[in-house]
Amino acid sequence: MILILLGAPGAGKGTQAQRLMNEHGLVQLSTGDMLREAVANKTEYGIKAKAAMDAGELVTDEIVVNIIADRIGHDDCKNGFILDGFPRNVPQAEALDAMLSEKGLKLDHVVLMTVDEEELTKRIIGRFTCSSCNEGYHDEFKRPAVDNVCDKCGGTDFTRRKDDNIETVQARFETYRSQTEPLLPYYESKGVLSKVNGMSAIEEVAGEIKAVLGV
Ligand SMILES: [Zn+2]
Repeated sequence: MILILLGAPGAGKGTQAQRLMNEHGLVQLSTGDMLREAVANKTEYGIKAKAAMDAGELVTDEIVVNIIADRIGHDDCKNGFILDGFPRNVPQAEALDAMLSEKGLKLDHVVLMTVDEEELTKRIIGRFTCSSCNEGYHDEFKRPAVDNVCDKCGGTDFTRRKDDNIETVQARFETYRSQTEPLLPYYESKGVLSKVNGMSAIEEVAGEIKAVLGV
């Protein structure tokens, strides 16, 4: 099975990908990892990628697609794979389809994990954790029983991740939208796009994804 998982930051894409790997033997292939591997292994396209990067140029889609083509020929991809970070625009999606079709393969599913951005922003910016035991809390949804005292260990020191502020979160959504939205009509027209509600509980989302994949 060949799959692309799309989802906003915080939609739980990583968690769901991990489950698909564990339960169905799919491999998650991130563009960054594949590039680094190809460069390290000095493959034909790894060498080309390195030359481009050394020259301060972007690695072309052609190089990336060839690196993916090499990678999916490896034995661990025989049950299928999940592409992560590619494609990010329609020309890349077309190049990917062309490469797969040359190999007699095709993209089976593109699963979009939809989110309610306002709700998700609220979830993210309210998070904080106990500095002593790492117990997670939330300004609205899970306050300690006594303000500023950890329920679990009695600690009084809490931390917030620097990235969990509204500006950073909105910028991440913006990037996500610009990289994802153009792909949706393309995959919709190919009949491979499905949407699941990424705001549901992890188990529920996993169930929805399984139903889409028919596994
Ligand atoms: Zn604690």
